[in-house]
Amino acid sequence: MNMQPATKPIRTTCPYCGVGCGVLATPLANGGLAIEGDPDHPANKGRLCVKGAALGETLGLRGRLLDPYIHGKRSSWDQALDLVAQRFSDAIAKHGPDSVAFYVSGQLLTEDYYVANKLMKGFIGSANIDTNSRLCMASSVAGHKRAFGSDTVPGLYEDLELADTVVLVGSNLAWCHPILYQRLAAARETRGTKVVVVDPRRTATCDIADLHLALNAGTDTVLFNLLLAEIARRGLIDHGFAANLDGMEDALAAAQATPLSSTGLPHADLTRFLDLWTASERVVTVYSQGINQSESGTDNVNAILNCHLATGRIGKPGMGPFSVTGQPNAMGGREVGGLANMLACHLDIDNPDHRDAVRGFWQAPRIAEKPGLKAVDMFRAVEEGRIKALWIMCTNPALSMPEADRVARAIKGCDFTVVSDIVAQTDTTRLADVLLPATGWAEKDGTVTNSERRVSRQRRALAAPGQARDDWRIMADVAKRMGWADAFDWTGPAQIFAEHAALSGVAGGLGSDFDISDYRATTAPEYDRMEPFLWPQSPSRQGGRFFGDGLFQTPSGRGRMVPIFPANRRPVDIAAPFTLNTGRVRDHWHSMTRTGRAARLSRHIAEPFLELHPRDAERLGLAPAGLAQVENEHGRAILRVLITDRAAPGHPFAPIHWTGETSSAGRVSSLVPGLTDPISGQPALKSAAVNISAFRAG
Ligand code: SF4
Repeated sequence: MNMQPATKPIRTTCPYCGVGCGVLATPLANGGLAIEGDPDHPANKGRLCVKGAALGETLGLRGRLLDPYIHGKRSSWDQALDLVAQRFSDAIAKHGPDSVAFYVSGQLLTEDYYVANKLMKGFIGSANIDTNSRLCMASSVAGHKRAFGSDTVPGLYEDLELADTVVLVGSNLAWCHPILYQRLAAARETRGTKVVVVDPRRTATCDIADLHLALNAGTDTVLFNLLLAEIARRGLIDHGFAANLDGMEDALAAAQATPLSSTGLPHADLTRFLDLWTASERVVTVYSQGINQSESGTDNVNAILNCHLATGRIGKPGMGPFSVTGQPNAMGGREVGGLANMLACHLDIDNPDHRDAVRGFWQAPRIAEKPGLKAVDMFRAVEEGRIKALWIMCTNPALSMPEADRVARAIKGCDFTVVSDIVAQTDTTRLADVLLPATGWAEKDGTVTNSERRVSRQRRALAAPGQARDDWRIMADVAKRMGWADAFDWTGPAQIFAEHAALSGVAGGLGSDFDISDYRATTAPEYDRMEPFLWPQSPSRQGGRFFGDGLFQTPSGRGRMVPIFPANRRPVDIAAPFTLNTGRVRDHWHSMTRTGRAARLSRHIAEPFLELHPRDAERLGLAPAGLAQVENEHGRAILRVLITDRAAPGHPFAPIHWTGETSSAGRVSSLVPGLTDPISGQPALKSAAVNISAFRAG
């Protein structure tokens, strides 16, 4: 087999996590791609983690969806698109715009996301478009908006390298954001950065921790309230910065009333943490799913933001709170407003001036006037028959949503479900009335935005296989059939990006932080040449950081501290006495439709497992490598037992990636109740009350 490179490398971006590493993809004579890290991309400077490095092994047509299907029979594109347009139009005519919904993905490119949002909010006239990013970072969005008045990440990756202390909360950076972890580990080597890991589980990230705080699950708000109270007690409030803040007194009163005991931390560890945080001027607090995926996710976020605001340690080199997103384009989705409670370009759906501006720019017949259904509520509405036509793009909710078995039944029962995907057989594609073949990572052109607000090009390196089409084009073709030909008449993603950037200029005129109109690439060659860029770049914004200048996006221009009242912990349910912690493994991504193809990515961990503390294993009579049955009222999973003290007693851990249908394991997400944070609507995917017993076949 000839593996020699056939042409020059194509500069593109990794499609997995929110670090957004640059990739050089070189087409090979055998039709594949050779993969290397892009030394010129600022996120990774040539490095790739094992998932990124194996991208070339995930290509190939085995299992690809290559043709449209209607009710299991191959169809033409015209037949499929006509049917989708007809069924959506019929539902809207008969039951109104809120009877249809799109469920999209943080892996769509920004241009795809823009078209989906424009079609649903501006032309159909509903805000029933939500995304699997709701499962990942909605609580950060809500926390940012409460504190800053806008959903703006204040800092940059380099802040982790400039900090004296980095605190990682509910974030297994080593496995979930490996290149950012490598950058931090290198800074620790060279600069002596202190690293604190706050996590009930002893994760791989603890390998570089100077201090691991294995606090009781769900007590993050207590920890950060204690920190805020200590900041005040030690006289470390930055009164100059605090002159630009509201809510300090109430936030402090709530923090000072927080009892010490519930974190379960040894006094010495807690004191060391308080000493380290307060003594380090340059401190970055990184947080991720352990903070966001909680019934108190937004409060968790604001408890962290309060500490940075009170000390003015925000938006300056080496200091600030930092939410790292799970998905490659969760940020791009936020920029186009691809969440049910947002308008485009970080504008506000509840603001009539913002709605008028967007409708006017789109010359749309209508504009959604109220927030739509967030993910969990969307699938409840499907279950209740209120959604008559559902379009799922680039995601697998029958595997990934909480109460996944219930979600699968709801999709199956929906009057009309369309699924666009690259894979023929997933838990969700099996339930579709119409299946539409989409292009995959190496075949798509567009942009993505990573966790530090850096916009990068994803470039086509391979031709589309079979009849696969780009997501933006599929949606535009449906929109044209629904009667909106002029508004969806683009020749390619360059034109869509130019329109998106122009709309951001309108948003900038209304005071939005998100204005990339300077970067508008009006021609295809300009778009193709686009270098990765950060927003903002105005010199007054400290080289791409926000809020260190004390200017916020609230109506008053002042930042807000929010009083946080830690919730009481739930009493233990004797029928489900264990609190299952869910998460990811190092070498697989989501439902493994891509990483599952690369044999070397299964060498690290080959099958679903249950990490169980030795005391729990002994009590349950479970031996190493035995099978455990994990169940509750929502679902059941059969998992291989891994006995380890990395898991705390009573708090086993299981990864989310495997599907019940291919591993006989059951979907781990089926065990998670559909509880959500009341402000963000983000599901509390991190924990589920379960019972565990030895599995006996038959
Ligand atoms: Fe891809 Fe994330 Fe790995 Fe970078 S760290 S190569 S973006 S998976």
